[in-house]
Amino acid sequence: MDNTQSIVARIVAGTREIMDAPTGNVPLHIPVFGENAAGYVNECITTGWVSSVGKFVDRFEADLAKFTGAKRAVAMVNGTAALHIALKLCGVEPGDEVLLPSLTFVATANAVSYCHATPHFVEVESRTLGIDAKAIRDYLGEIAEVKNGSCTNRKTGNTIRCLIGMHAFGHPFELESVLELCEDFGLNLVEDAAESIGSYYKQQHTGLFGRVGTLSFNGNKTITTGGGGAIITNDDSLADLAKHLTTTGKKPHPYRYFHDMVAHNYRMPNLNAALGCSQLEDLPAILESKRKIAAGYISTFADNSDFEILAEPENCQSNYWLNALVLSDLNAKHHDAVIQQLNQAGIIVRPIWEPLHTLPMYCDAPKMELGVTMNLANRIINLPSTPRIL
Ligand SMILES: *Cc1c(COP(=O)(O)O)cnc(C)c1O
Repeated sequence: MDNTQSIVARIVAGTREIMDAPTGNVPLHIPVFGENAAGYVNECITTGWVSSVGKFVDRFEADLAKFTGAKRAVAMVNGTAALHIALKLCGVEPGDEVLLPSLTFVATANAVSYCHATPHFVEVESRTLGIDAKAIRDYLGEIAEVKNGSCTNRKTGNTIRCLIGMHAFGHPFELESVLELCEDFGLNLVEDAAESIGSYYKQQHTGLFGRVGTLSFNGNKTITTGGGGAIITNDDSLADLAKHLTTTGKKPHPYRYFHDMVAHNYRMPNLNAALGCSQLEDLPAILESKRKIAAGYISTFADNSDFEILAEPENCQSNYWLNALVLSDLNAKHHDAVIQQLNQAGIIVRPIWEPLHTLPMYCDAPKMELGVTMNLANRIINLPSTPRIL
């Protein structure tokens, strides 16, 4: 048996045991719904309140703020729209540059492009898979200058307006050093918390450290509204502006259509919010189940030198959205074969995203040295992580 086969055999056996699935396909991550989901959705249908206003939208925003501890939450059509709005709230303008990891889902960079700004890719650390404040600090020291509290790229002359950090697979990135970096370089911090609802850094919910945090409720995320997203913030005026920007810039009025800016139709429909209300009720049970699954992977695969399972960073609580297996450097060459054979064996897994600076539309974008990103991209495999709540 070569090493690929041995690794695959161990992962198949371990995963089937942890996921309590002796036969058949084990999906990567599928949604689970508690007892109120169908009733809430049905209420939208029977009352006719299925579209962009309704009591479930208001309730979902209130419940989301309560769960995360945010002063305000504003629900939107999806996490990508939430990122687009978050960047607008931070004053990103055409021609600006926005720093973001290359190791993230493509939406993070696309939101920058929607603002006619330039994504500028930065490095991550292997401990958290999140942005590496020290490496970015050294890099900005070389290429940027700070004047009147604003950061300029000396090579391009463009303003570097924002830094987006992303809490990969629910593991919080090193917020303390990132906040210091943002302070020193005059950068707004946006947290892409699409994957990290229920994840905490030093007891505070992710997404609330920067100016704005964004969440996603896509079907594969920890909780889902079908499609959906939100921003969370402790700044009332930003939340009000977010609502306005996502509601076609319409001035509230019983019957007049008066709009005071070119804005978006990014509202979350009531139908989706109804599902979201039930999912927030289920969230504590989902998080508990996810911790058990992660603990299972970590202990089952503890004594082995071929790969490790990513554990939550120190002083953090991860929601363990998707468990991540990291092949040892020696086994990186087996990455594709292991993924292919696991899928053939019914253990549905996937590699981490292709680093964004290697995609055709972003291959000419500015970037720092991305050695850690490339190394990790060739070693990470996401394992089945569907919670059980019933
Ligand atoms: C899912 C995700 C998004 C986008 O969310 P959608 O709701 O699918 O638009 C953005 N960033 C990251 C890191 C994600 O995982």
